[in-house]
Amino acid sequence: MKPTIALVGRPNVGKSTLFNRLTKSRDALVADQPGLTRDRHYGHGRVGDKPYLVVDTGGFEPVVDEGIMFEMAKQTLQAVDEADAIVFIVDGRTGLTPHDKIIANRLRQGSRPVWLAVNKAEGMNRAVVTSEFFELGLGEPVAISASHGEGVRTLLNEILERFPEPEPEEDPDHPKFVIVGRPNVGKSTLVNAVLGEERVIAFDAPGTTRDSIYIDFERNGGNYTIIDTAGVRRRGKVTDVIEKFSVVKTIQAIEDANVAVLVLDATQDVSDQDARVASFVLEAGRALVVAVNKWEAATQEQKDQIKRDIARKLAFLDFAKFHYISALQGKGVGDLFASIDQAYAAAMTKIPTPKLTRALQLALERQQPPLAGKIRPKMRYAHQGGTNPPVVVIHGNALEAVPAAYWRYLEHSFIKMFKLQGTPLRVQFKKSE
Ligand code: GDP
Ligand code: GDP
Repeated sequence: MKPTIALVGRPNVGKSTLFNRLTKSRDALVADQPGLTRDRHYGHGRVGDKPYLVVDTGGFEPVVDEGIMFEMAKQTLQAVDEADAIVFIVDGRTGLTPHDKIIANRLRQGSRPVWLAVNKAEGMNRAVVTSEFFELGLGEPVAISASHGEGVRTLLNEILERFPEPEPEEDPDHPKFVIVGRPNVGKSTLVNAVLGEERVIAFDAPGTTRDSIYIDFERNGGNYTIIDTAGVRRRGKVTDVIEKFSVVKTIQAIEDANVAVLVLDATQDVSDQDARVASFVLEAGRALVVAVNKWEAATQEQKDQIKRDIARKLAFLDFAKFHYISALQGKGVGDLFASIDQAYAAAMTKIPTPKLTRALQLALERQQPPLAGKIRPKMRYAHQGGTNPPVVVIHGNALEAVPAAYWRYLEHSFIKMFKLQGTPLRVQFKKSE
């Protein structure tokens, strides 16, 4: 599983600068989706064949008045507890501040490994700039410059060294899905509705994988695994002190699933938080089924409203099947499985090179890539570079010039030609030798 690295520190130390640097290479690969607001606080990165996830906790900072004691936001504390590694960033130019000490105290209480990065150290003597930060008691501080890129790679390598090389991905032979959505949309009700009538084969012990529970069950002769992020199924037994919604856990569970079921509440407008959770699924490239829940309780007006909202705010989910269900009454829950099966099959499809290349030629015949100046990008053949999501690697020349719109046209063409309902698909370009 990908390690999650959380960036922590008081405002202005350079968290978002470092975040951008750690996620840059990957961002350039993913074509922009219209209507998708990229969440700039979560991102993917990769060094060699080691992928990782970065969380910039700066997005969680509470608004505090000048002079009031800095308080770490609840989501920051959660990220600190749930991440695999923490980079605590301090400002080498400002020097050690009382806020830094408060954060350090909290970090020392946690169980996650912490790297102390002294930022803005370009042009400064490393030993001098780091010396005063030893007293934070978090080990040896590392001098970096997020904006100049100095020391960042070394720091990253040191962090990633602690995590095992990812195992070569084994193709799962059945859907492994997770139910996601903002609080109160009905996730735990749906999990219970799904499991209530099924034969549960095995309950994974909690705590084995990042506190999520993996439950295997059978339905109509098919095998499924549902990933239950803790606090969903078990919430009934826990006090409400437990935060209902954990972004880090949600993202990790999505990463580990092959299908996500996004739950919306039909009696409410589609909110930014809904769109955010949806964007996590898309960023991870996971297959998706959408369940618009509480359908039995929605007025006609609310039903019209949410359909308009979906068309407007969640247009980027047009590849997914939508279901209108009532988890409470168990209505429509069975039908979800047909779409989960379909989305899973689409995500795992393997298409031979000749077929893909023929599909590419068809798409090119229908619409040529536009000229870039005098040069027309030349696409020669395509092969599949991966599954979950399907990746189509197109070989050719002058491919830097392919605009995002054409990129999307190709993605849609492959989805349509191979009837891949329910999964996103990624097109990548590779220069021919
Ligand atoms: P955040 O609030 O912790 O996310 O901090 P930002 O990433 O927004 O950076 C705050 C300010 O510090 C910005 O003006 C950055 O340009 C600047 N900054 C970030 N990293 C460096 C660095 O390595 N060196 C210098 N000199 N400035 C930096
Ligand atoms: P979660 O926070 O997403 O896990 O949401 P819960 O499953 O705890 O549900 C939140 C509230 O919505 C509870 O009061 C549920 O009883 C209610 N709820 C869940 N599903 C439905 C449904 O299909 N119809 C109606 N009317 N209420 C529902």
